[in-house]
Amino acid sequence: MRAIQLLEAGSDPERVDLPVPEPGLDEVRVAVRACGICGSDLHILDGQISTQDLPLILGHEAAGVVDKIGPGTSGIVAGERVLVNPIVVCGVCSACRVGRTNQCPNNTVLGVVGAGAAADYVIVPAGNVHRVPQVIDFATAAIMADAVAGPFHAIRAAGVQQGDTVAVFGLGGLGLHATMILKQVIGALVIGVDTYDAALTRATGFGADVVVDARDGAPSKRIVNETDGGVDFSFEFVGSNNTVEQAIRSLRPGGLCTVVGVSSEKANFNFALGTLVAREWSVRGSYSYVSQDLVPHPRTFAPL
Ligand SMILES: [Zn+2]
Ligand SMILES: [Zn+2]
Repeated sequence: MRAIQLLEAGSDPERVDLPVPEPGLDEVRVAVRACGICGSDLHILDGQISTQDLPLILGHEAAGVVDKIGPGTSGIVAGERVLVNPIVVCGVCSACRVGRTNQCPNNTVLGVVGAGAAADYVIVPAGNVHRVPQVIDFATAAIMADAVAGPFHAIRAAGVQQGDTVAVFGLGGLGLHATMILKQVIGALVIGVDTYDAALTRATGFGADVVVDARDGAPSKRIVNETDGGVDFSFEFVGSNNTVEQAIRSLRPGGLCTVVGVSSEKANFNFALGTLVAREWSVRGSYSYVSQDLVPHPRTFAPL
């Protein structure tokens, strides 16, 4: 089979020919029809994300058709259209046992540890493939786990409901997917916030009701004014103190800010702790996703 393989860190990956792999116990083989290239793939190439597993077939955003079933596998048959959840978890630790698989300390990611999907075929644990309806094309399905399930997890955990007002800070890939989910799936009123014209324009196209240019440094003031006291929920996809602070300040009393953007900055907010108490603001983090986020949901869904 054809595969894109990284032979050593810091070098370009190479197109190689390898034997077609065989699925083992509780595994399936997926004939890959689409595989995305993620920002983290680029960081594997430049060495910022280290992998001990060289040579390595790259690729962790994939969809395709189940091609062969390994021994002991039930519930899925060859020929089914599936997306691949690339995060492989142990299934036995305390986090896995209560469904918080995103907290599994033993998790690995296909294409970072173990062969990925930038190839004609990939071997995947049977529990890591999810059926995809015919109406979703393979290229769209391929990014559902890595790029869509994360924002969905954050929104589901926050408990956003139809008609709620929500501010989305950072309208890159994750923020735009959040905007689409909030508007088109849940029916929230969405305010998109960014500092780039192109991002603001895209957010409008994806359903943001209002966009706020944050270049003046204080978008929360405008949001609080326009919503008559602040939004019910805010989501931060940037990972910076300034943006998190603006996302918190945008809340109405009792509102919830969810931070998804990752940063190594020390938390440092320029408001009195008494303000946090007086306004009864909540702040939480949201990390990655769990397999339940990849199960098709009706328009309403159970909060975590
Ligand atoms: Zn990724
Ligand atoms: Zn586990």
